[in-house]
Order: sequence, then structure tokens, then C-alpha cells
Amino acid sequence: MDFIKSLPKIELHAHLNGSLSNATLLKLRQLKYGDDTNIDPQFYQIMDANLTLSECFLKFKYAHDLTDSWDALKLATECMIQDFALENTIYLEIRSTPKKTVSLSKEDYLEAIIAGIESSSHAHPNTLVKLIVSVNRADGPTAAQENLEVALKLHQKYPNIIKGMDLSGDPLKFFYRDFAQVFVDARNAGLGIAIHAAEVNEKYEDVKDILDFGPDRIGHGTFVEESGLQNWQTLRKKKIPVECCLTSNVKCGTVKNYEDHHLKKLFQYGHPVAICTDDFGVFDTSLSQEIELTAKHINLSNWDLMKIMQHSVDFSFASDAEKKMLHEKLDQFKKENLEVLKENI
Ligand SMILES: [Zn+2]
Repeated sequence: MDFIKSLPKIELHAHLNGSLSNATLLKLRQLKYGDDTNIDPQFYQIMDANLTLSECFLKFKYAHDLTDSWDALKLATECMIQDFALENTIYLEIRSTPKKTVSLSKEDYLEAIIAGIESSSHAHPNTLVKLIVSVNRADGPTAAQENLEVALKLHQKYPNIIKGMDLSGDPLKFFYRDFAQVFVDARNAGLGIAIHAAEVNEKYEDVKDILDFGPDRIGHGTFVEESGLQNWQTLRKKKIPVECCLTSNVKCGTVKNYEDHHLKKLFQYGHPVAICTDDFGVFDTSLSQEIELTAKHINLSNWDLMKIMQHSVDFSFASDAEKKMLHEKLDQFKKENLEVLKENI
């Protein structure tokens, strides 16, 4: 575990609202409602460990409610970055769906997150942070077009922070083709594309359309193989990296147990994978814990973990100069830990 703790880490798949620790949720609640604990006492039930799946999902409801102002969003972003920085995460891509609230436009919403990223760059200079603008499937194509427009506008203003677009949310809502033009336009404007794909064991045509488009990375990819040989071959042939989120998949029940996680097969085939948290606050995990669980249940050595971090840098949305800097940090760690790495090949 010491090795994993000190390993410089790369996180490519983390949603802001799902990545708020209990301590952060408490701070946000205090900011919005003050110290009155009688307001909605159900809130305190989600602070317990070992929540049921529906209780886990309640955290999303509270996170949405508590991040509806500029100050709250900035604070939430700063706390999330701090939590990752404390785990020695040297590169973090945050993704978030911009929302209109009583006091914020979609543009303000993203600007508040960017303000949190900028202030954190002073507090945690060792953690490089980027922002991916998400499209929530459930909100439909019109909202997706709005998100694209605000993403492109802010990409012009903050080219070093806004680096990509993501499609996420309920996989049963709408079809990828309903959003296809948004992602073509985003790619043409120079944004990286990450798409949640094959999260559930249905809508095979959707998986085909996503893989044919060929995003830079896919999230989960749990049922690509089940969705048909052609889809599996396309994934392999195009070498589309898969962001694997073990605890999220096991807790949501899309993967039976850690040992059966598809990361194992992908890794054995030499397919590019990243180890990610998805929503560490909701699923009560951390990046270190996900790496440890992967090592334990998928039987990966320290060398393998090191390799996964190095490959994750390659398919991140960082600039070439930033990738070089991240590789140098990993190489330095490798040099300093050669003995430990050798012990466990
Ligand atoms: Zn996700």
C-alpha cells in the first residue's frame, strides 16, 4: 500500500458532483443552510458508511442542491482537487455538466469551476487539473447543443483548462446519434472526446455508433464484448482507451465482482486502460483504493500499475509539453523506487 500511496497518479474519469467527500458535503451544506441541523435531517444519513445503492444515489441529489451558487461550486471544486492532491494525483480531469440555477447561467456555472481550478493551482501546484464539459443524455439534444456552445466559448477563453467533452447520464435515454453532431463539432474545434459507452447490456446499435465515431476514450465499456463481435473488434482495432471504474461498476451491479471486471481481459490483451474513480464520494472510495483493488483482484504487479499510469498520461487531454512533464515525474518516481518495482514484477 505504501507503494500505491506514493505512486504519482493520473485520474481521467471523475465527475464533480460525485466526487465530493462527506467533509465537503458538510461544508457545502453549512455554506447554503448554516448550522441548523433540523433542516432535512435525512441529509445526515448519507454520511454513514455502507450505504445501500439508493442511499448512495441520494448523495447526487444533495450534491446538485448544494452546488447551485458560484461560491459553492468554487468551493466544491477546490475540495475535490485537494482530496486528489492529498493522494499524490499529479493529473486530474474533472468532468461536469453545466446547469442553469437560480443565480447562474451555464457559462457562469463552468466559470465558477474554472475559478476553483485556478485558485487550486496555487494551493496544489503538483496537481495539474483540466475540465471536461459533460452532456447529460437525459437533458436531450437541445441542452447538448447549449453545452457545446458554452464549451467552445470557454475553450477560447481558457484553452489550457477546457480540454474536452463527455457524454454521460442515463444510458437508456436517447441515442448517441441524437448527439452525434455535437461531438463532431467539438472534435473539429480541437476538444478531446470521452464518451460513456456500453454501460448497460442493451442498445447495441448505440455502442456501434459510438465506436464507429471513435472517441479518444470511452468510459466503462462494460458490455462492448456482449454487444457483438464487430464492436469488440472495432474497439480493439482502434485501440480506444477504456476508463475503468471498478467500485462504481461493482456497486451499481453492472459487474458481478472485482475479479470479473473487464479491465482484466483488456489488460491481458494489451488494450489501453485507465484506473478511475468515477464518483469517489458517492461510492465511498478513492483513487488509491481503486488502484489497490485493481492490483489485488486483477493480479497486477507494481510494474503493471506503473505502466497503466504512464499510458494514462499518453491518452490524457494534456498538451504535449504537459505530458512530457508528467512522464518526467513518473520516470523520477520509477528511478527512486526501482528496488520496490523489481521485487514485484
Ligand atoms: Zn462516469
